Amino acid sequence: MKAALSNVLFRLRNDFQLSMISVLGAIGVLAILPFSLLRFWQGNPVAGTADLLVASAICGSALYAWRSGKLDRAGVIIALCNTAGSLAVEVLLGKPGLYWMYVAMLANFFIVGRNIAVSLALAGIALAQFIPGAFDDPVQRASVITTQLLVALFAFIFAHRTAIQHQMLERLATHDALTGARNRRALEQELDIAMATGARQMRPSALLLLDLDHFKQVNDRYGHEAGDQVLCQFVDLIHAHTRAGDRLFRYGGEEFVLLLENTGIAGAQAAFAKLQALVHARLRIQQMPVTISAGAAALHPGETREQWLARADAALYRAKQNGRDRLEIAD
Ligand code: GH3
Ligand code: MG
Ligand code: MG
Repeated sequence: MKAALSNVLFRLRNDFQLSMISVLGAIGVLAILPFSLLRFWQGNPVAGTADLLVASAICGSALYAWRSGKLDRAGVIIALCNTAGSLAVEVLLGKPGLYWMYVAMLANFFIVGRNIAVSLALAGIALAQFIPGAFDDPVQRASVITTQLLVALFAFIFAHRTAIQHQMLERLATHDALTGARNRRALEQELDIAMATGARQMRPSALLLLDLDHFKQVNDRYGHEAGDQVLCQFVDLIHAHTRAGDRLFRYGGEEFVLLLENTGIAGAQAAFAKLQALVHARLRIQQMPVTISAGAAALHPGETREQWLARADAALYRAKQNGRDRLEIAD
């Protein structure tokens, strides 16, 4: 019981979309249901049933989201219910529906993408125009249309800004600030994904653990800034000359991991040969040539991420021992 509760709290804290869907599910019960009961009590069973249907659909979708994890689908269903519900209230009761439409419009921006939310808002505003008796006079109609359009516009701008900031934060959290390669945290996530999909789809994965040779000497001779520049050029070179699905991570100071999906050891050897030639041809710092050593390891079924990396590390160690500027294959 305690474990289940802590699991619920964990999911609520870590999944914004799920927590918003849950809040709306709760609102479905706490805010709409009392109105449904009130309508029945006032002798308006049609409005009462409409409220009851909207509340049940929202609440049911929230439960579906919890059970299936299909948040996008549940979000769209709830957003449709919000919009259709406020229109239904407008048809059945007149003006109160207008007020609910503002709430529905704003709520939708929290649970579905901004393009769907703004489309639903525009559709709701347009459909409301055909409801007889919803507006007293043309001036009131114009005021409602204008204010609803402005609410939709501001919500859209806010959602757009939030999405951009989210992307920036995500990039900061997963990329190395100096070189722009993905960072170690991203590496752990991507290796886990590669291992899971590899096991499911029986596809090979390999990684290259790359290390710049004698990099301390680069810093000692030409300064730390020049060393930084070489690191950035190295990353740019790899990004420009690897396949779209290959991913580069900065593992440590001058050590990088290149994850090659759908690739076995032969592919990893070919990838290294190509990179080695590129580094020879394009990377040098004044008179000093830059070289790289690497360890390649194909994923073994059932091994852990740490074991996979450790095998590549042992191969890299051998490459250094055997004279550098070379690749060694892990056992
Ligand atoms: P090896 O061929 O055995 O790899 O020799 P190495 O000198 O490259 O290896 P070592 O581990 O002795 O030194 C790594 C050097 O990389 C030391 C450190 O100053 C440098 N380094 C690590 N991170 C950075 C960085 O962000 N910028 C610069 N400029 N240098 C870095
Ligand atoms: Mg090195
Ligand atoms: Mg090193």
